[in-house]
Amino acid sequence: MPARRVTRQRAPVVPIEFLCYDATMTERLYYTDAYLRTFSARITDRANDSRTIYLDRSAFYPTSGGQLFDTGTLAGIAVTDVVDEGDRIAHILAAPAPAGDTVSGAVDWTRRFDHMQQHTGQHLLSAIFADRFRLDTVSVHFGATSSTLDLDTESLSHNTLLAAEEIANAAIAEPRAVRVSFESASSATGLRKPPPRDGELRIVTIDALDRSACGGTHVRSTAEIGALLIRRTERVRKTTRVEFVCGLRAVRAARSDQELVAALAHALAVAPAELVATAIVQRDELRAARSARRELVTALDVYHARERFDAATPDANGRRRFLERCSNGSIEELRSLAQAILALGPALFIGTIAMPPTIVVASSDAATDAGATLKQVLADLGGRGGGNARIAQGTVPDAAALDSAVNAFQ
Ligand SMILES: [Zn+2]
Repeated sequence: MPARRVTRQRAPVVPIEFLCYDATMTERLYYTDAYLRTFSARITDRANDSRTIYLDRSAFYPTSGGQLFDTGTLAGIAVTDVVDEGDRIAHILAAPAPAGDTVSGAVDWTRRFDHMQQHTGQHLLSAIFADRFRLDTVSVHFGATSSTLDLDTESLSHNTLLAAEEIANAAIAEPRAVRVSFESASSATGLRKPPPRDGELRIVTIDALDRSACGGTHVRSTAEIGALLIRRTERVRKTTRVEFVCGLRAVRAARSDQELVAALAHALAVAPAELVATAIVQRDELRAARSARRELVTALDVYHARERFDAATPDANGRRRFLERCSNGSIEELRSLAQAILALGPALFIGTIAMPPTIVVASSDAATDAGATLKQVLADLGGRGGGNARIAQGTVPDAAALDSAVNAFQ
């Protein structure tokens, strides 16, 4: 290991491991100042791809701890990814890196501040679930649109969710200070979880509520979280995943829901408060209407079947043949008509629908097994389907194949 030049910058609070030891390491400026948006740095190394550079110091947060990387610019070139490589941070640029030894950097503050809001909101929500409801957070994830935390419980009541959300928003309104400190794992007290390792830890404290070891970026007061909105829960193995949004994301999610409710209310021509009752009434009415329609269709089929049956001439074996071609209509309607005709006497019924090319075969004659016969016809035409001896159905690739299938039963 090379000799390390330790440069104490903000003694005594900065831990040894967060200082810039030597020329190959990257000093992580966001550890001590999450609000730093612009900085200058020296390029210490370049990768062969010409778009990846390493700096002696950086305000860019790399993807880690569940938090997404920062974007922004280095020497005016867009930063498309930031990767934590342990001792140093790789900055991947949208174009070849500039010549020269130094660069100025600018972090996309809208994105970064949003991440800080979600991350601090997670600390707050996890602390409330743990303190008030004895539910520990086992993992967290920060996504581009929403974030999740997994609680060590298989179920979570709606009332618990509402209560946790309300307590979180009360803590946001109070507000409570959020501070970063560097403490020895051996002497740090009141941590929510046991220290992840020995040595000095970066500890994020929400005043009188939470102390957690964390390397992410956070806002300085719960007030800056803005608002916290729980969106939904989902059981994942033996945990319950809680999806939430903070800050402007919460406002936008609520706005989106509001627009949806307004559009539904407009479509149904009722007040938003009447939506649920209206939906239930309409659902029940639709069920009743479908049931009544089925009865009418059946009655109509019996009528049509009788008309068709009487008009058809039986062959030498007393069997009548029927061909029903529909340009539209449903498979259920064809099957219903077929059953009604078969109920009247010996018959072979062939019905087709143009799109998708579909055939229904029904037989009340023991001489013709509808399922077996159709299966053979479909196999020859590249179609698929099946059924029983009395009624079967299938689809074929095109109109010509449908004609061939019909002819096979002539
Ligand atoms: Zn954190």
